[in-house]
Amino acid sequence: MQLRIDVDACQGHSRCALAYPEIFDVDDDAKAVVLVEHIPPEWQDKALTAIANCPERAISVDE
Ligand code: SF4
Repeated sequence: MQLRIDVDACQGHSRCALAYPEIFDVDDDAKAVVLVEHIPPEWQDKALTAIANCPERAISVDE
């Protein structure tokens, strides 16, 4: 699984990065970045929860 951030939608309030700092960070432009290129299977529940909890719907699975 790979994740994608819609930087136009992201508001940079760090909800994803605070919940899962091993997967997300927020850069100097206040946009989320994905730190892990390929999400390992044991982290997929975290990734799906982050997607569901992003209020801007800015995180998606990159097919
Ligand atoms: S929770 Fe969503 S909108 Fe907020 S920083 Fe993360 S990706 Fe961006």
